[in-house]
Amino acid sequence: MRLRAQAINGVAALYVSVGGDRQRAAHLGCVAGQDGVEVTIRLLEVLAQRGRVRAREVLAAEGIAAFHSAVEDLLVTAVGRRDSGNRRKEPLGLHGLRDGTFAYGVGLAFGHADATSLQRLSEAAEAAGASGMRAAPGRVLIIIGLTQQNSSPFAAAAEALGFIVRSEDPRRHVVACAGAPICASAKIAARAIAPLVAAAAAPHLDGSFKIHISGCAKGCAHPVPAALTVVGTAAGCVLIADGSVQDTAFKTVATNELPDAVAEIARGRKHEDNHV
Ligand code: SF4
Repeated sequence: MRLRAQAINGVAALYVSVGGDRQRAAHLGCVAGQDGVEVTIRLLEVLAQRGRVRAREVLAAEGIAAFHSAVEDLLVTAVGRRDSGNRRKEPLGLHGLRDGTFAYGVGLAFGHADATSLQRLSEAAEAAGASGMRAAPGRVLIIIGLTQQNSSPFAAAAEALGFIVRSEDPRRHVVACAGAPICASAKIAARAIAPLVAAAAAPHLDGSFKIHISGCAKGCAHPVPAALTVVGTAAGCVLIADGSVQDTAFKTVATNELPDAVAEIARGRKHEDNHV
């Protein structure tokens, strides 16, 4: 069951879907923000009435109708793909705010930062005169209350701390879970390898080639397909093209060979794309 916030004509709403991940779930439509609890309860009741079943099992047996009829009086839009015509603005970098101040978006490399780095980021923001910090989509923190002038030294400090401040930073194209030794299930140090992979593949990454490095076959960090999915196993890193951790691998490489192997694949893909 998925509730995703989005704006409809400038008003906050929740896009509701069931029975799958972001790409595979069945879409029901949007409800008003204040109806989020009610729609959730009604969808859970649909499941509870059928015993111990998953939403996707209900979908397979009865289609979307069972869920739709339970919530249709709450829906404020017709069923449709939520992303059509709804491109997100780039959250990184400088943004002018209505009150005349500025906000600056910094990205967390591989969706992660340690407490010391966050503390130092907070200190740099405070030194630049910021009034607050907000979480934003895309694993980004938005620092608010800056002036245009003091945003530059803040951005330099953030970059020096390892945060992402440029949209072309290759680390934005790599998703990695915690991996070993943080996660007991991991077969490879996914997060530790990720910067090496990003650096090696950087010349060939342009945003159209997403790389997912997963410490094991659970795929926690990116449960949807990627251009290249890497899964840690006892035998090395298996590589899956245009799929998720559940799909069939086309190659296995030793962990220490992974950065070069990924760079070669990304180079080949870019070459293909340039000749289509
Ligand atoms: S994908 Fe595997 S290794 Fe990575 S965080 Fe999930 S369980 Fe741990």
